[in-house]
Amino acid sequence: MKQISADIAIIGAGPAGLAAAITAGEHGLEAVVFEKSAVAGGTANMGMGPFGVESRIQKERMVPITKEEAFKMFMDYVHWQADAHLIHDYFWKSGETIDWLEDMGVEFAEPAKWYPTSMQTWHVVLPEGGGKPGPRAASAMTKVMYERAQELGVQFYMSTPAIKLIREDDYVCGLIARSEDEEYEVTADAVIIATGGFGDNPEMIKQYIGLTYGKDISHTRVPGLDGDGIKMAWEVGAGKSRMDMESGLSSLISGPKSGFTGLHVFRQPSCLLVNSESMRVMDESILENGAISKNVAMLQKGHTLYNILCDSIVEDYRRNGVDYPSGVFRFNPAEGFHEAFLKAQEMYPESLFMAESIEELAELMGLDPQQLRKTVDEYNTSCDNHFDDLYCKERRYLRPVQGRIFYGLKMILGGYGSLGGIKINYKFEVITEDHEVIQGLYAIGTDACDIYAGTYLYHLPGNTMGFAINGGRLAVEHILEYFAELEAAGEEKEQ
Ligand SMILES: Cc1cc2nc3c(=O)[nH]c(=O)nc-3n(C[C@H](O)[C@H](O)[C@H](O)COP(=O)(O)OP(=O)(O)OC[C@H]3O[C@@H](n4cnc5c(N)ncnc54)[C@H](O)[C@@H]3O)c2cc1C
Repeated sequence: MKQISADIAIIGAGPAGLAAAITAGEHGLEAVVFEKSAVAGGTANMGMGPFGVESRIQKERMVPITKEEAFKMFMDYVHWQADAHLIHDYFWKSGETIDWLEDMGVEFAEPAKWYPTSMQTWHVVLPEGGGKPGPRAASAMTKVMYERAQELGVQFYMSTPAIKLIREDDYVCGLIARSEDEEYEVTADAVIIATGGFGDNPEMIKQYIGLTYGKDISHTRVPGLDGDGIKMAWEVGAGKSRMDMESGLSSLISGPKSGFTGLHVFRQPSCLLVNSESMRVMDESILENGAISKNVAMLQKGHTLYNILCDSIVEDYRRNGVDYPSGVFRFNPAEGFHEAFLKAQEMYPESLFMAESIEELAELMGLDPQQLRKTVDEYNTSCDNHFDDLYCKERRYLRPVQGRIFYGLKMILGGYGSLGGIKINYKFEVITEDHEVIQGLYAIGTDACDIYAGTYLYHLPGNTMGFAINGGRLAVEHILEYFAELEAAGEEKEQ
């Protein structure tokens, strides 16, 4: 077994681990990073960018939101079911963190919203070498971060997962990591866990969240996110924090593999959404906020909703553009919808349906034809009257479901990975169920991100990546305080 010693050992080289590594390097600390996969960047390599408020770019572009407003918005949204001190420190740091990343060489586009009424806090990264931002743009950021950490002398051990923490008395003082051909025993004054949660572990999702992967939920599974850090922390006494999925209302089709851009038409406010009893259950315009519409689905049988569209609405969207254009996908998804639908239906016959009448569509989707007919008739009457007495959908979105072709989409939860698992305090120190600090042990990013009280906050977009990066920086700043305390205690003992 190879022996290594360092000031800080970091487990995971996603955005959280990388931010911690750079901050450690900036303060002259000796840091080692153990990463399970062969590449750095973690899930952020698939994402677009982090949250920030009062960044230099926002100020230059006169984006009006302040950190005070964002803080109040956040705390109200979660009913204060998040550590307010931690949220304060995260938000107050977040603008300067965007500047820090920029100074490192990361380029950002105009701060973006997730949907029209959300805030412009999403600092979408520009791809390397210029061009327009798009899916996976944040990989350009993690590349810069990885290079910066190496420049600062951080040692990376790739394809070398950590497998165990070493705890002596009240302290965590190291870890064991193992590559294909070597085992390492690492001694460190502080260990930071940043392993990205359990999004690739259906058993944990079932056990701790109660959702069955592929049935109740489909989401991006990032290989290697097995909950390692969470399990290692629990083994040394960490408390369990609220666990959830970062999810929204979606379908089995979501994901880059399908290539079905028409899904964006099914996310428009003029759709009709019913539950398995063919009853309308929501103002469909809240589809813009996937996390809230997910909550509606969670109340329904099978956590499923049935989305119904018709060719006349698609045609309206084709001619006039959609109500909710995407800041990421800059095209009209209603263009070529029918052809794209047919192609996607071949791949996903269990999720996509098409018929020439509402009754026939109901049969195909496993719904009651008579009840669906009744619901559609009632809804169409509301559209004709320009007044939705049931759920108060805005008049401009009330387009009747009528035409020659009817399209159906079965919707379940979809998401980006897990949230939470390790209990921490505002210093990112890992604590027991009884709130006792496990000295020397810190958790950041997804493994510790239990701040949304069950409904992810798309309203302040970029939030999980923002939590990861800012948490990485803040944790190391708290570790510096901890080291100073250890040193002071040592000197006192000597005297
Ligand atoms: C498609 C997609 C798009 C997204 N877009 C955005 C976005 O635009 N904005 C936003 O805010 N969020 C976005 N997210 C979420 C965001 O990417 C995550 O919140 C963020 O990456 C979490 O960072 P992390 O460092 O905690 O974990 P991760 O990025 O998941 O990194 C964890 C790392 O730990 C490693 N690891 C796991 N186990 C071990 C072990 N035992 N030992 C060593 N290493 C280990 C993993 O290999 C991985 O590299 C997106 C997610 C997805 C799936």
